[in-house]
Amino acid sequence: MCYFDHQLWRCGYWRWGNFREQCPKEYRTGETCGLKLIYNTYLEPGVCKTCETVSKKQRRMSKMMEDVDRWTCEGNRRATIEKTQQEIGVLQVQIGELCRDHEVRKNACSY
Ligand SMILES: [Zn+2]
Repeated sequence: MCYFDHQLWRCGYWRWGNFREQCPKEYRTGETCGLKLIYNTYLEPGVCKTCETVSKKQRRMSKMMEDVDRWTCEGNRRATIEKTQQEIGVLQVQIGELCRDHEVRKNACSY
């Protein structure tokens, strides 16, 4: 068992940080035995990169949806509307994947 720093974000996302202490079972310098234990948990004040990306994409998506609504009222923008709706679809898929990865990470056990 080797000890590592542990970073934890407010949203529940976490990752391993610096290697801290080698366990007596591991004799190779600089190597770790593969079983990671928490040496110290550092709480990050904000949300993780994934959450930041998700909210950026969500903002872009809702802006596009507003545009589509407006263009629908204005008429004569069918090609633009279709193109934007496709982009919204792509964003939705990306957001879905990011959220799924985030959920998996949150629930993953630490080693
Ligand atoms: Zn997060």
